[in-house]
Amino acid sequence: MLELAGVETFYGSIQALFGMTLRAEEGKVTTLIGRNGMGKTTTVGSILGIVPCRSGQITFLGDRIDGKPAYQVAQHGIGLVPEGRQVFPNLSVRENLMATATNFAGLDDPWTLDRMLDFFPALKERLGNMGSQLSGGEQQMLSIGRALMLNPLLLILDEATEGLAPLIRREIWKRLDLLKQSGLTILLIDKNIEELNRIADHHHIIEKGRVVWSGSPAELQANPGLKMQYLGI
Ligand code: ATP
Repeated sequence: MLELAGVETFYGSIQALFGMTLRAEEGKVTTLIGRNGMGKTTTVGSILGIVPCRSGQITFLGDRIDGKPAYQVAQHGIGLVPEGRQVFPNLSVRENLMATATNFAGLDDPWTLDRMLDFFPALKERLGNMGSQLSGGEQQMLSIGRALMLNPLLLILDEATEGLAPLIRREIWKRLDLLKQSGLTILLIDKNIEELNRIADHHHIIEKGRVVWSGSPAELQANPGLKMQYLGI
């Protein structure tokens, strides 16, 4: 569904991605893992057109999306749950969810507000509250909900369980399991390797702006040296 080939991305004169490659297969959960500052968020930014790549190719369902502005990339059917949640603080929960609600991909059974509130019941009680009034966990649910209301074909989550209490974290992982079971294609960035190994179909390890290893959860599990060398665990 998504393929990056030879992607090079810069912040001004500082290069952050050095020939980045990545593949996400339809209906699968693909991960991008690596230590802080290795280029995971930059990869996400390059896919979305937020930090446009300077060279290389990004293909989504056969269409080149590199060079397109973020709003056009989103219209191809890519939803983002950004690092740090970034809910709209001065919009209500309802407004946050409805602000991006659309069905560009023409899905038969699209997400609606009612369906979303069944999926995240905690948001039902907070519909009239402002984004800034929510707890971290509620904001994370809202951020995921907002991305799903775009009815994406591919959902990208950048550190969606970061900084949450263990109970809330478990809730989020449960929802991600359900999304996987529904057949949604997911690209996951997270630091919890155990959970990632459980849910993922394929991993990519990134080091200094390029993928240095990719393989199955079983292959990663069988190779503790990899985890030590590239993830520091
Ligand atoms: P983290 O888990 O800490 O978010 P990451 O793997 O997502 O790390 P990136 O945020 O993509 O890494 O950063 C990759 C490199 O690009 C780092 O060296 C970082 O310092 C640099 N970088 C990121 N954002 C900027 C920016 N706005 N301006 C300049 N350099 C940046």
